[in-house]
Amino acid sequence: MEYKNIWVLVEKQNEGIHPVVFELLSKGRSLKEALGERLIAVFFGKLKDRDKAELERYGAEEILAIHIDEGMDENHELLAELACMAVEEERPQIILAGATINGRTLMPLIAVQLKTGLTADCTELRIDKDREILLQTRPAFGGNIMATIECADSKPQMATVRPHVFKMKKTRDPVKAKVKSKRYSPVMRRTVRVLETIAQEEKMDITRTDIIVSGGRGLGKADGFELIGELSRKLGGMVGASRGAVDLGWISHAHQVGQTGRTVSPKLYVACGISGAVQHLAGMKGSETIIAINEDPDATIFEAADYGIVGDLYDIIPRILKEMESSGRA
Ligand SMILES: Cc1cc2nc3c(=O)[nH]c(=O)nc-3n(C[C@H](O)[C@H](O)[C@H](O)COP(=O)(O)OP(=O)(O)OC[C@H]3O[C@@H](n4cnc5c(N)ncnc54)[C@H](O)[C@@H]3O)c2cc1C
Repeated sequence: MEYKNIWVLVEKQNEGIHPVVFELLSKGRSLKEALGERLIAVFFGKLKDRDKAELERYGAEEILAIHIDEGMDENHELLAELACMAVEEERPQIILAGATINGRTLMPLIAVQLKTGLTADCTELRIDKDREILLQTRPAFGGNIMATIECADSKPQMATVRPHVFKMKKTRDPVKAKVKSKRYSPVMRRTVRVLETIAQEEKMDITRTDIIVSGGRGLGKADGFELIGELSRKLGGMVGASRGAVDLGWISHAHQVGQTGRTVSPKLYVACGISGAVQHLAGMKGSETIIAINEDPDATIFEAADYGIVGDLYDIIPRILKEMESSGRA
């Protein structure tokens, strides 16, 4: 039996579905069109009408609802075993999941059991139509190059993608997804038991804002973040930073944008005194509008920017603030 169709594993969050699932379904639509196959959401446990409607809105054409007996621990080992049983039967060509803590734990367990490959933290996914292969791009060799990885000899092809890498887009014409219910009898391997789930405290989270003003080494000193903070406050956003600035101890890691920081996709990203290293771009290139302020007209950041201002940020930013004030926007 040949391998076909694209699966997106559904991760639950609180009472609903984790947003990364909708991002993966949005991307999955273009992948399945390239392959001429179906996009299937794989849901573990009891599927509610609201969950079904949401999955349909982002393009799921079919939902594989895998039953979990009441009282069973929904631990990663159990989910991996159930997923593998479903794979043996349904033979998906591609399996995608979010590179969240759960996705990063579950996907390797599945890949090992199926003896197939897995590419973690992809920043782009494409299809080679001639060979029907998933091209999985991610930073490699210490983040200095972007490598495109193929899993050509074994199936399914598996990849995880961090939240915010792909845009969440509702489909214009949602279809009523066919629900296929599956019940398997796993041999429960209780290596890990969840005793209690404690909700994480709300922390400063730069992935949850529409506007980010980021500062880099070009600030020249830690105090420069006061100016960045002022602009971000006036715009109603949050402060981001390059690793260059974080490594100098000017601001905490929670603010770092990039490959080893957070991946963000705000409506507006203002990069001040940031050169535009590939590892920084990996974390913000999905922003809707990018403005760069840099005194070097050849800085790489200008290649990614929609608007570029060449000049000293200590001259430019106060002028922007003054302009906002005089036009009543601050
Ligand atoms: C494995 C790995 C992971 C990494 N992960 C990340 C990551 O997650 N995020 C990240 O950002 N980096 C990351 N890096 C580091 C990255 O390669 C760069 O070193 C870093 O992004 C540089 O930070 P920067 O742009 O602030 O500093 P610089 O590259 O030093 O750039 C400073 C810029 O400021 C400009 N400038 C100077 N003075 C002024 C002024 N007064 N006004 C206006 N412009 C001015 C300069 O022209 C220059 O372009 C990673 C590197 C590796 C190897």
